[in-house]
Amino acid sequence: MSKVFYTSARALDFDFHVSLPAKLEELLEQADLKGFIDANDYVAIKMHLGSHGAFRIVRPVFIRKIADAVRSAGGSPFVTDTVRIPGLEYLEVANANGINHLSVGAPVILADGIFGKDVINVPAGEILGEIGVASAIYEAQAMIVVSHCKGHIAAGYGGAIKNLGMGGIGARNRDGLPERGRMHFAQNTQLEWDMDICDFCEKCVNVCPHQAINFDDRQIFLDQARCAKCARCARVCPSGALVAPISQEIFQRSLAEAAGAVVSTFKPGKILYINFVLEVQPECDCMPLADVPVIQDQGVLISDDIVAIEMATLDMMGKAALLPGSKGEENSGKEGHILQKITGKDPYSHVRAAAELGMGQIDYELVEIERKSGKWENAMNFDPQDRIPLKPKGHGWHREGPGHPHPCQGSGS
Ligand code: SF4
Ligand code: SF4
Repeated sequence: MSKVFYTSARALDFDFHVSLPAKLEELLEQADLKGFIDANDYVAIKMHLGSHGAFRIVRPVFIRKIADAVRSAGGSPFVTDTVRIPGLEYLEVANANGINHLSVGAPVILADGIFGKDVINVPAGEILGEIGVASAIYEAQAMIVVSHCKGHIAAGYGGAIKNLGMGGIGARNRDGLPERGRMHFAQNTQLEWDMDICDFCEKCVNVCPHQAINFDDRQIFLDQARCAKCARCARVCPSGALVAPISQEIFQRSLAEAAGAVVSTFKPGKILYINFVLEVQPECDCMPLADVPVIQDQGVLISDDIVAIEMATLDMMGKAALLPGSKGEENSGKEGHILQKITGKDPYSHVRAAAELGMGQIDYELVEIERKSGKWENAMNFDPQDRIPLKPKGHGWHREGPGHPHPCQGSGS
């Protein structure tokens, strides 16, 4: 059974020590970063940088705490993701979302380069064969996988496995062909379009981040060179006219295989996972929007076991209060886990696949951290000229102790 440390999003006192940033510091203490970071290790802080319309990514204040903790442990942190939309545009999106060197205290780079082609092929498994892991992640000595946990149109759930399985893989291979897209399109097949059921709504056109699909006189056209095979156009098609030909099971297993390939490039014990269960929106941060959160904020989880932390996260989401006016409430009458109700996909599917690949344990022990330990250190570090005693009201008799003896003991005033 693996340990998963957790701290609640609630702050039940007027004290920094119960704030979420402070409790994250405590979680990082408990995780003992010195135990898995060696001096001068390059440590990849893998996160999602958002998109033009998706702003509910993990906030810079938390990324900075993580980068500071890495540096305190002797490592050299860098914040990274792989190319989703065109590379330089993605770095602009990151900047607009508040993630840059100044805000997070570490360089922000694209792990597969600005063209998304810097990859190193790694054995993945039966379905994928080999897959191109982003080179900066491949070469890093240690990694902290920071995941904003939410729904996902293809996987049902987007957490740490999705963060690595898609986000640790290069957008393209060295020849410029879609690499990550091999998970969405079995055997690298092509989009299929059924004109008879297409209602020409153009949702597919509007959602494409690469302007790779369009209509000309009621005929759909694809620009093969631009298309990254992300399958977003097919996933949003309301009529089922546009299809990425792959079964749900193969897709979910591919995702676990790809995550396993990324993990395999690190020595054992060199990866830590941090799941933020905050602003749990129905959709991935890749989408050009961020709907309102579907459940109440839960908190932050941390573990060195990717399967255990995903199980704990999903179980927690399943018990959380649904938020009024959200897709959570709208779909509350349906069967299954809240993310299944919203996305129609089993959110545990790729987590179980990862467990079957031996990536971690299904069973977990949840250890709650309620507050950051210690006190403010400079409480009496006043300039003597500025220091004045506040005039006490009352006698303080109810506060026996040093400086407050009870009057019956003869030493009171
Ligand atoms: S989203 Fe589907 S129905 Fe709408 S135009 Fe595209 S293929 Fe046709
Ligand atoms: S799969 Fe669809 S949405 Fe994705 S890049 Fe290709 S055309 Fe655009």
